[in-house]
Amino acid sequence: SKTIMWFRKDLRLDDNTAFDKMLEDSQDTDELICLFQLNPVQFLEDSYNHNAFFYSLATFCEHGKANGVPIHFLYGEVEENFTELKKVYEDWDAIYFNADERGFGRERDQKMMAFFVNNKIQVHAYQDSHIHGVQDIKKPTGESYKVFTPYFKKWVTMPKRAYKKSIKHNRTLRKYEHPLFSEGERHFKQLIKKIDLPFDYECGEVVAENHLKDFIENHLHDYQKGRDYPFFDQTSKLSSFLRNGELSIRKVWHALNAEPDSNGRQTFISELCWRDFYNMIYFENPKQKTQEIKEQYRQLHWNYNQNMFELWKNGETGFPIVDAGMRQLNQTGWMHNRLRMIVASFLTKDLMIDWRLGEEYFQQKLIDYDSASNIGGWQWAASTGTDAVPYFRIFNPTTQGERFDHNGDFIRRFIPELKDVPNEYIHEPSKMPAKLQKSIGIEIGKDYPNQIVDHKKVRSEILEFFKVTIT
Ligand code: FAD
Repeated sequence: SKTIMWFRKDLRLDDNTAFDKMLEDSQDTDELICLFQLNPVQFLEDSYNHNAFFYSLATFCEHGKANGVPIHFLYGEVEENFTELKKVYEDWDAIYFNADERGFGRERDQKMMAFFVNNKIQVHAYQDSHIHGVQDIKKPTGESYKVFTPYFKKWVTMPKRAYKKSIKHNRTLRKYEHPLFSEGERHFKQLIKKIDLPFDYECGEVVAENHLKDFIENHLHDYQKGRDYPFFDQTSKLSSFLRNGELSIRKVWHALNAEPDSNGRQTFISELCWRDFYNMIYFENPKQKTQEIKEQYRQLHWNYNQNMFELWKNGETGFPIVDAGMRQLNQTGWMHNRLRMIVASFLTKDLMIDWRLGEEYFQQKLIDYDSASNIGGWQWAASTGTDAVPYFRIFNPTTQGERFDHNGDFIRRFIPELKDVPNEYIHEPSKMPAKLQKSIGIEIGKDYPNQIVDHKKVRSEILEFFKVTIT
């Protein structure tokens, strides 16, 4: 009989729950086929997010090949693909995969589960991507949590699954030849040829492991002190490896457990909990990509000013910390967390532009795009989601810059036009006297924009804006 391992956002061989289970359950004579299903409805054109994922997938295929695990491809609509496959391999009777607990993947899995059952294919599905799955952490009443802090308090007390170094399987899995697979592979090769990223992109499970090691050895214990300062690059940058499943989350947990305790370690643990929290929130609010979690804010009259939106996207708002953040995203496909909060607050509170537009732009650009964390982060910033603080949490972009990039080092890295602006004016270049502008060879309003809104007015406008819906 034949068994299939269906890889998705779990691009690794190490501590991969479904893959390990399949190997454990199989006899030497069983025929095991590892595959990836390419579904064009999921493709985003010109997107760093998708291009990065496909580079990761190509790296995974190389890694698999080198380790005796050839990856086969299917291309097309998912149910059609598996129907064809079942016709080709009538003796296919089991499938293993790491299930998607929310969003598009969850709907697909539900649909496919019915297909497998109807076709008498045994399903072995697992929660692999998060420390705790979406149903693991509940209030004593059995209800799910709505805010982070009580969720976290419960989360830390729950037993965690151990990291299991991959079983060394001494089998080389066979590469199957069939027109379905060659067609799938042809599409994948075409795709890889077409895509491009304008920056270096590190991927693959070997790189991920080294990255984790380096972070734990050199930055973990300073994490709490350094994580809010974009210039110092003190965060782990594990996000893309985690979203592609190139790194086992249990391996991260295991590495943290081997370390002495510190404020840095504790803070880092709470960030991993945010990841689980937003995953659970998305499961509980399946419409959250398009709909506000807080019901009372579903009728807000958001702004759709295209010109303002473009200025925000391009990092041309006249607020240096906002612009530096957006330029970091546009140039590198990643943005520091503090800056994500600042730019999201700016778009939704200062410009009052619909958070959905920001969420979509991040979806296009982020190499670590994760729907649950991104939508969670955007709804948090827009005050329509899980933030326990009400809508009058408004970040002041100037004071945020002063606090978290005091000397403007990060700003100057991404906005070279401002490189000679003295510290005194780096967060508000439009206040620079004309004489000074001339002497350093910059004209604000021409070489770098004036501020596109008056932040001082925002607070009263926001009160008006949200008032419409308060019951
Ligand atoms: P570290 O600070 O080293 O944190 C370690 C890990 O913890 C991260 O890799 C991530 O997996 C998790 N984590 C940290 N903070 C958060 C958080 N607030 N929410 C959920 N998980 C967190 N994160 C994504 O992975 N994908 C996204 O698409 C995404 N979009 C965001 C959008 C907005 C508006 C905001 C405010 C935050 C968003 N985040 C997102 C969360 C956070 O910004 C990133 O996880 C973090 O910047 C990634 O860098 P790092 O790996 O160096 O993080």
